[in-house]
Amino acid sequence: MTMNAALPGALRAATPVYSDPAVAFIAANDFDRSTLVISRDRVAAQYDALHAGLGRAHIHYAVKANPAPEIIRLLVKKGSGFDAASRAEIELCLSQGAKPGNISFGNTIKRASDIAFAHSAGVTLFAADSEAELDKIAAHAPGARVYIRLIVENSLADWPLSRKFGCAASALPALLDHAKAVGLVPYGLSFHVGSQTRKAEFWNPVLDQIAPLWNAAIAAGHDLQLLNLGGGFPAFYGEHVEAPRIYAASVMRAVAARFGNVPQVMAEPGRGLVAEAGHIAAEVLLVSRKSADDMHRWVYLDIGRFSGLAETEGEAIRYQFVTKHDGGDTGPCILAGPSCDSADILYEKRPINLPLALGCGDKVVIRNCGAYTSSYSSVGFNGFPPLDVIVL
Ligand SMILES: *Cc1c(COP(=O)(O)O)cnc(C)c1O
Repeated sequence: MTMNAALPGALRAATPVYSDPAVAFIAANDFDRSTLVISRDRVAAQYDALHAGLGRAHIHYAVKANPAPEIIRLLVKKGSGFDAASRAEIELCLSQGAKPGNISFGNTIKRASDIAFAHSAGVTLFAADSEAELDKIAAHAPGARVYIRLIVENSLADWPLSRKFGCAASALPALLDHAKAVGLVPYGLSFHVGSQTRKAEFWNPVLDQIAPLWNAAIAAGHDLQLLNLGGGFPAFYGEHVEAPRIYAASVMRAVAARFGNVPQVMAEPGRGLVAEAGHIAAEVLLVSRKSADDMHRWVYLDIGRFSGLAETEGEAIRYQFVTKHDGGDTGPCILAGPSCDSADILYEKRPINLPLALGCGDKVVIRNCGAYTSSYSSVGFNGFPPLDVIVL
């Protein structure tokens, strides 16, 4: 990395918040490999905004979105809790000062030895969506509090979480009874509206689905305490999203209208907390055409599907790109990563427009990449190094 002031003008033109520390850092430096630069100040500001909108709901940051230790430590200082999915994520949170009582083990598919570890470390809140998982928790974390995760039907999210997680509504009563029968504390319900749920109003049909199940469980004698709203809080990828405080406050109004005074509410933002705080510095490795009359340019970057941009799968998340040529003529191109796997194409069905002047060696800034990039980067597929991370 060397100092280089080639980019600031173009970035200033294309970036509304030039004071963004990560943008300024990328503009002022050269990188010898693709690098995520993420700003703690921006994460803190985003936390404050979500916290203000969520009111009494306690934030449990979904660690998988970005497990940089500096970010975990910052969020510990801010008073955040953590949603962890494995022993390693729990150890990470503990190593950065999190209290075990502020960590929930939210994965519904846990290794028995990880449950035992969490229990011995003092974690007392676990997720489940099946009888077998409840049995596992009862055996390795006897007496623990459990919340049952429900399937969300017909998610309106850009990155829906499908039917992999959660039980059907019809299975809930028996699972709550089973939890009690095996000595656990049926403590609450959880769901996930789907990641990148762009509009707060998209939560309404999901909350409509969950509220009667909550009421039925109470009527059946379960003293539920916790409604876990999961994640889904969106980031800006080019399509309008409401500011985090306004969005979160709308969600909480919708929750209050349907659930009244639930004793405890919890939210697990991942993307919404860290995505906009980080940007990736990447480089164009090649621009080519397959023939003289090929309509499309192919632009190959030094980062691809396997080195941090996994969420381009299905072209679901459409990142924004900033180059020093912005403002000049643009044309469509197929954008691909550097590895020798034909699946390593980022955008092809809906090609993206990039400047015609773009050439080999040019720096490209990929905006709002703080979530689900470094944590999705392979250790070195094809010998390309994993996404580097610089925390400011
Ligand atoms: C991934 C995950 C989240 C975070 O989702 P976002 O859409 O990034 O906010 C929250 N809760 C659970 C259980 C998750 O698996």
